[in-house]
Formats: sequence, structure tokens, C-alpha cells
Amino acid sequence: MPIYEYKCGDCGKLTSVFTRSVSSPVDAVCRGCGGKKLERVFSKFAVHRTEADVLRDTGSEPQRLEDYKDPRQIGRWAERKFDEYGVEMPQEARQMIDAAREGDFPDAVKDL
Ligand SMILES: [Zn+2]
Repeated sequence: MPIYEYKCGDCGKLTSVFTRSVSSPVDAVCRGCGGKKLERVFSKFAVHRTEADVLRDTGSEPQRLEDYKDPRQIGRWAERKFDEYGVEMPQEARQMIDAAREGDFPDAVKDL
């Protein structure tokens, strides 16, 4: 049974709501103040992250130019991110980072 967490827009308290299924509508009311301005909160434990999610996230982050000035820093950030999410870095990403450290930058980086 899925558990949804909501944050109250009025008092900021979190309210957990059990639902029958992910598709059933939830009529949640804040436990703290009875308010109905509830916003869905995605807890990191409830959301199963896939490699694709992680890649999309890392791709949407602004490029940190200073990282590219030192070849040893290339890919550090991505490595940290994958580590954080507890997923193994995909082979292509691994190879891209290794290549970049050797001075073989992907096109997107050359354009910077
Ligand atoms: Zn409230």
C-alpha cells in the first residue's frame, strides 16, 4: 500500500496518507492544522531511482567550468553523484570521463 507524504502549505507539517492504490485520489487534510493546501513530498526512501533518473539529473546540472581546467577533476562530480544515489555508473559515462581525463573531450564540452 503506497504511503504518500504531504507538506502543509499553511503550517509546514508533514502528513502521511495511506492510499489504496497509486491511482486512487487522495483527499488529504493536514494533521497539524486541518488545512487542505497540501503538497506532495517525495521522500528519497519512497522513490526508486533508476540510472536514467540519475543521468537526467546530472545532465540538468549546470556545468562547472572550473572542473575542466584540471583533468583530474573531470567527472569527479558525476562520480560523487552516482555514489550518492547508490547506483553504478553506466559504462558509457565511465568511458566518457576516462576519455576526457586523457584530453579527449565529448563535443558538448569542446564547445564551452
Ligand atoms: Zn497544516
